[in-house]
Amino acid sequence: KPEYAFIGRSNVGKSSLINMLAEKKALAKTSATPGKTQLINTFEMDDTWYLADLPGYGFAKAPKGVRGGFNKMIYDYIEFRKNLVNVFLLIDSRHTPQKIDLQFMEWLGNKQIPFAIVFTKLDKLTSTQMQKNLNHYKNELLKTWEELPKIFTSSASSKIGKLEILGYIDSLNEHLVDEFKKE
Ligand code: GDP
Repeated sequence: KPEYAFIGRSNVGKSSLINMLAEKKALAKTSATPGKTQLINTFEMDDTWYLADLPGYGFAKAPKGVRGGFNKMIYDYIEFRKNLVNVFLLIDSRHTPQKIDLQFMEWLGNKQIPFAIVFTKLDKLTSTQMQKNLNHYKNELLKTWEELPKIFTSSASSKIGKLEILGYIDSLNEHLVDEFKKE
């Protein structure tokens, strides 16, 4: 089954977003990554796809060695996971573009791994501020990217973005059906 990964800096609102997406669904935890279940949790969604909850990155205070191993594990998963269809990179709407996120996108681009951006905590900004931040972010991206990735705005508190994100996943899944049937 196709898998979709959610990742972002710690405290970006990832758990809240995942809870919003999964609302009212009994999440059956799968252990698709034996031995790594504490770091990568995958959940079966709607019987049709897996949601992978990747650990938050950007622990500036973690010792270098720990950080390296931690990162390698995430990078290996993303690079080699066969059924991974798309990575959703979560970014706090209030923040200016952060180097760590931009570098991560660059890495995804180099590896040709499809990704989308989800701006979180939309409710914390006025729509004018939001528009300003969004434009600023897009301009920053256009310095290195020819084309902008798919961008979602969301708020777990105000239940914004759920239908858009789930709809996008459904539309990607539809195109994949044949591919996955062959396996
Ligand atoms: P994680 O560390 O990325 O999993 O982030 P959490 O989902 O645990 O959220 C971190 C903090 O941000 C918590 O205090 C949440 O209550 C808060 N938070 C998460 N999503 C939202 C949101 O959409 N709106 C607001 N106002 N707060 C949020």
